[in-house]
Amino acid sequence: MYLFDIDGTLLLTGGAGSIAINQLFSERYGVQGAMDTVSAGGKTDDMIFQECARKDMQRDLSEEEVRDLVRAYVPLLRAELLSAPSFRLMPFVRECMAFVSEIHDIVGIATGNVEGAAMAKLERAELADHFHFGGYGSDSPRRPELVAAAMRRGRERAGRTLSDEEFVVVGDTLHDITAARANGARVIAVATGSVSKEVLGAAQPDALFDTLEELPEWHHRHFKLGTSR
Ligand SMILES: [Mg+2]
Repeated sequence: MYLFDIDGTLLLTGGAGSIAINQLFSERYGVQGAMDTVSAGGKTDDMIFQECARKDMQRDLSEEEVRDLVRAYVPLLRAELLSAPSFRLMPFVRECMAFVSEIHDIVGIATGNVEGAAMAKLERAELADHFHFGGYGSDSPRRPELVAAAMRRGRERAGRTLSDEEFVVVGDTLHDITAARANGARVIAVATGSVSKEVLGAAQPDALFDTLEELPEWHHRHFKLGTSR
């Protein structure tokens, strides 16, 4: 059962996420360029908000402040996604999702985005229909825990026993790899995001792709029956 990361794996928002966060910190705290020098790859939205606060305000945000920021962030992101000129899908995403949807009844998400932000991005990409459950940054600020949440929901949706290693996390950063490993899941690293193939390879994922075009062949090699619903 596949669990896909979103940013850098399925799509790039072309800066819409950073623009929305900058706008949010400007409106709430009068801080300009909150996302400058913050690298978001593989991090949860909570972690990103905290990093911005530490960098520009030298303090941590309270849980209530984070909840409040998330509520304001999702509509800002939605608006920004509509006008983001360089929003784009990663190569072969539609082909990959068509393949995965063919072999599995249910497909999941494992992303650091809060659920509302994840949905906004998947809808903008017209990919939302391919996914049936997920683990999100709104489940936990810690990535291993949101992957665990995705696996729990996958098992509930499947209504059958699934071993940890029947789950395959697909992501573009080292955080995806360590979070998958922490849960006993397999992990495919795809070098379409901000992390090089060399760096991803050093973390020894179960598979390392240039693009998602390679997923169907890998799947057939590793799940020999061809289908595993
Ligand atoms: Mg990513």
